[in-house]
Amino acid sequence: MMSVQLVILCILSSSLAKPLLFDQPRWFWSWRDTSEEKGEYYEGDMILSSKQITDLRKRTGLVNTQYRWPNNTVPYQLSSEFTQSEADFIRTSLNRVEEVSCLKFISRNSFHNDFISVTRENSGCFSKVGFQGGVQQLNFAPHKLGEGCFRNGTIIHEFLHALGFFHMQSAADRDDYVTIVWDNISLDHRKNFKKYNDTVITHFGVDYDYDSVMHYPRNAFSINDKDTIIPRDPDAEIGQRVRISSGDIERLNKMYECDCGK
Ligand SMILES: [Zn+2]
Repeated sequence: MMSVQLVILCILSSSLAKPLLFDQPRWFWSWRDTSEEKGEYYEGDMILSSKQITDLRKRTGLVNTQYRWPNNTVPYQLSSEFTQSEADFIRTSLNRVEEVSCLKFISRNSFHNDFISVTRENSGCFSKVGFQGGVQQLNFAPHKLGEGCFRNGTIIHEFLHALGFFHMQSAADRDDYVTIVWDNISLDHRKNFKKYNDTVITHFGVDYDYDSVMHYPRNAFSINDKDTIIPRDPDAEIGQRVRISSGDIERLNKMYECDCGK
């Protein structure tokens, strides 16, 4: 059953051609957190299967529906190492995704063979991308609530990877919206700024979204603390990890074909 809130959000998000205005002070985005850059994974925090890497070469990939969770339902199991307040914090972020979409996150039981195992290892925050089948790891390293991996936006960011999303600036049309400053990125990390043909990843018809919780911050993977990504719109801010954006909501609902009453 679809909530009234979902209908309203669907309508709101589809009627917004531009990203939402920001209601947080500027300093918020200048603060840099590198928790998502810690792992030596694909683009920092994504673990791709060998098939996904092959698919990327073949230019298919996450447009492919095999990476979507069946029945829009994601069973997950939290490690017993999480404190109660950490577990509650994660659940609050998942509740937010449920409120604005038709996705459901349920506690894994013994009948679920395919599920996300949420771990608390000291190795940054990272996730596999899309439904993999079997047990797939998603990690939040311990941090104070509200910091590092334990920001609502970062928790949603990692779960959006698990639902099948890449980073915003990987989009085929990103050069129309941002400039990548290659000189400020180490050779090792330049692969993290690759863009993909839209047969691989898609916006699902939604405009490029500076406000996306999946967008890297201005100085992601910087070797000198100078900007590595500069928005072409001088008023745009990127890299927020506060909340799921209206564009994120719209893309998620389109990917999972949530019924927006249309
Ligand atoms: Zn990421």
